[in-house]
Amino acid sequence: HVIQEQRLKYLTDEKRIKAVTVLFSDLEGRLHMLDYDKKFLVKSYDNLTFDGSSIRGFTAQRESDLRLGIDWSAFYWAPADVFGPGKVLVFGEVIDKQGGTYSADIRGVLKKFSQELHEKQGYTLNAANEIEGFLFEGTDAERLFHETGKFEYVNKGGYYHSLPGDPLREFIDMTAEVQRAMGFENEKDHPEVAPSQFEINYSYGEVVAAADQIQLYKLICRQVANQMGMTASFLPKPVVGVNGSGMHTNVSITKGGKNLFWDPKGEEKISKMAWSFVDRILTHGNDICLLLNASVNAYRRLDPHFEAPNQIKASAVDRGSMIRIPIGNEKSSRVEVRSVGPDANPYMVLYSIFKSGLDGETAKIKNLRQAERYLPDNVYTALENFRESAWTTKLLGADVKGRYADLKQASADRCPRLLGTVVKTPEIQFH
Ligand code: GLU
Ligand code: MG
Ligand code: MG
Repeated sequence: HVIQEQRLKYLTDEKRIKAVTVLFSDLEGRLHMLDYDKKFLVKSYDNLTFDGSSIRGFTAQRESDLRLGIDWSAFYWAPADVFGPGKVLVFGEVIDKQGGTYSADIRGVLKKFSQELHEKQGYTLNAANEIEGFLFEGTDAERLFHETGKFEYVNKGGYYHSLPGDPLREFIDMTAEVQRAMGFENEKDHPEVAPSQFEINYSYGEVVAAADQIQLYKLICRQVANQMGMTASFLPKPVVGVNGSGMHTNVSITKGGKNLFWDPKGEEKISKMAWSFVDRILTHGNDICLLLNASVNAYRRLDPHFEAPNQIKASAVDRGSMIRIPIGNEKSSRVEVRSVGPDANPYMVLYSIFKSGLDGETAKIKNLRQAERYLPDNVYTALENFRESAWTTKLLGADVKGRYADLKQASADRCPRLLGTVVKTPEIQFH
């Protein structure tokens, strides 16, 4: 409430702000934005409603009205040259008829889960995502793709290689500048292995803020690219024959400022708790795969020849394994889940990783860490595993699980038709 008072005062006092953009995400992770006039919002923030029937995965037509709350702690200044003049951004929370967290608003689900853990156990959940993407020519690269059968790279440079004045470098610089203005703590950025591919890294953060930042990062990239006459794409595998884009998810848990995953005497210098976390995720690797790799296209990425994992195992070195244990120290010790596509719902990704890592059933099979088990190589197998899993019912509840599966089924079923009629070159396929 202190934060709420501060923000309301700021909004009232700051004459340059005219409107507040409220952001929330649908069940598949698509970002939605509602702009409220500032004066209206300051008066009516506790009585906002919206029509949920047109939001994928939300309500059915007959019960379309939903309430929208404001999460005043997730408040961002919005640079005018990207977002238009006089705006701030704030994340919303979807509220059900009973006044609780709406079950298909996974941001709310994640927030509740992490708050309860904090109250009961004193845990803080931390995440850092390495989000890769491609930059393509034209503001409408997907339509161009339909016409020409390919995406046009903006440069032909390679890993870590970029010259001043290169369009990819200019895009990265501009994006990083907008991020800094919005309060991201940037760390490093570079062109990635594939031509025209980029990665911009910023500091880890508390889990809900980290997920919000994934949404903002993709939004900023798309806006900046658009202004430069290009498209930022977060398809996991837009071009066959070169590396795809991942969203490696680094996670750790702290308590009273102490990193519970660090143990200098432990195997690979991580604690027993961290290994148990890893074992539980491996146990549920097949169950939650559809939540981490949420599109038809995501399964084309999971190929170790292109530094993307296809094995359900953990390793300190092997980039073909689902979980990697990076070298770390007391502060940076963490586990890296590599089998995540950048087009997945970030709230779903972080919720399913933390929930599975902490509450998942421990493996009955011993030594899962090195076992020969594989992730599904196509969305239909992933869908089947997801539907049949008892764990995903516990995770999401039968209703939301069913809605999610139906959405994924529908987009998978649309895909072959797309490929048959539109895509002329078989080497490029997308969701
Ligand atoms: N682009 C690779 C992937 O799809 C990852 C490369 C890297 O390790 O940064 O996961
Ligand atoms: Mg990378
Ligand atoms: Mg990585």
